[in-house]
Amino acid sequence: MTDTPLPPELFALTIPADRPLVVVDVDEVLGLFMAGFEDFVGDHGLEMRIDRFALFQNIYRPGEATHVDMSTGKKLFDAFFECNPQRMQVVPGAADALAGLAERATVVILTNAPAVARPARARWLIENDLPYPLVIGAGPKGKPVAALASRTPHPTAFVDDLLHNLDSVQTEAPDVHRFQSVADERLRPFAPSAPDRHARFDSWPDLAGAIALALDLRLS
Ligand SMILES: [Mg+2]
Repeated sequence: MTDTPLPPELFALTIPADRPLVVVDVDEVLGLFMAGFEDFVGDHGLEMRIDRFALFQNIYRPGEATHVDMSTGKKLFDAFFECNPQRMQVVPGAADALAGLAERATVVILTNAPAVARPARARWLIENDLPYPLVIGAGPKGKPVAALASRTPHPTAFVDDLLHNLDSVQTEAPDVHRFQSVADERLRPFAPSAPDRHARFDSWPDLAGAIALALDLRLS
């Protein structure tokens, strides 16, 4: 398996060496992606049935029992990313929680998204009071998180909804504190978890408290 190259903007970031680091995913952690995507596919005469932890396999033509094919799903996905993150709602409590953590820690947003998504995604973060540097990656997040964490001697926390990203960080950067969070209440029961390896907190106030404890931050 060939390694995905690290995102170049990762090396341009300033990561102060005198404070801890919090690396946070976007979709289903800061933004209610599935709900926004559901609205978007609805505009295209399709519907989302959330009965598994998946994306394209949840999109149906009304009245049909089989989900749309992967290429139709992928086209909708790319179109949503390119022009429509504006309608994605921010997860309740996320902006306040991160603002609190940012008083004592560096916050970096690490999202896997198509490259065309950058302008819309950067705008979405600013408009939702999430003014943190954005790194757009691809593939498992262990290596980029390890590269970020190596820039400060203080501890790092990583938050994602996807088990394979959390496992990847455990492999590549085992000292990083890992937290799973799944924002959409309908997805929560279907999300693969491993609470013995990665702590899970689906609400931001609880999550922020756990991150602060792990990083030994005293929040005001
Ligand atoms: Mg995500």
